[in-house]
Amino acid sequence: MNHITDRDGAQCVCCGTPLAGQRYSVHHRIYGNRGDNRPSNLVTLLGTGTTLHHMQAHRRKSTWAIPNGYAVSRHAAREATLVVPVWYYQPALGRVGWFLLDDDGGLTAYQGPELAPAPRPFALEATAWTSTRPGAAPAPRAGRGLPRTRGAR
Ligand SMILES: [Zn+2]
Repeated sequence: MNHITDRDGAQCVCCGTPLAGQRYSVHHRIYGNRGDNRPSNLVTLLGTGTTLHHMQAHRRKSTWAIPNGYAVSRHAAREATLVVPVWYYQPALGRVGWFLLDDDGGLTAYQGPELAPAPRPFALEATAWTSTRPGAAPAPRAGRGLPRTRGAR
């Protein structure tokens, strides 16, 4: 845990999955500059740069990460991280909505003009339950042990 995961309630910001026992990491909203560690540039997401929701923040930038505020254009001013709201989905903490991050490690509810609902994480049901911890039980494979239905009508 660090000050960013504390701010984010020890949960993934996009789905509210508790971090305990999960692989998680801190994502840089302005993609391409991992040296920019201002708190407003960082959000906690399940997975790594190549797994789960952190990966989606990189791979689904235009369709998911930017509309959710998890990614900010690398061409934007650095200060954009202070004014572009972030969608938090953490029902267990009573935190579902848009928030602005500051560089003192805090966040405040966004009070600006109404925003479109944020796109939900891709394949949340699948990814939230898939642990990438070494030694974790493998996720069940679709169809294993089930009757073959291919071609059946
Ligand atoms: Zn998530």
